[in-house]
Amino acid sequence: MVAIDETECTGCDLCIPFCPFEALLPMAENPRDKGKRPLIVVETNCVGCLSCISSCPTGALFEVEIPADAIISPLIHPTQQPAVEVVERFKRGGLGWPLPKQR
Ligand code: SF4
Ligand code: SF4
Repeated sequence: MVAIDETECTGCDLCIPFCPFEALLPMAENPRDKGKRPLIVVETNCVGCLSCISSCPTGALFEVEIPADAIISPLIHPTQQPAVEVVERFKRGGLGWPLPKQR
């Protein structure tokens, strides 16, 4: 799985389109006094593909290894997570994929 170091996350949103599973989403409420709200990893969506890992300019994304002998998967028993914003990916004007536009 992947996690975000919240202190390093500027809320720039650059990583969002790099996740094919929409697991990187902004917090619905900003816990900070100033600056943009950070993102969280939605545990139930993250499959640990690491497609996002090098997309963060501040290095806030990091891999969390799940021990091979882990009995309970966080996908089955996710921790309580704060509410997140909906980010439109695939409608007109949405973020889409982080690939150069063809034509
Ligand atoms: S790219 Fe990095 S700093 Fe920007 S929102 Fe994603 S985790 Fe936060
Ligand atoms: S590891 Fe894969 S599924 Fe998890 S947040 Fe990154 S891109 Fe999304």
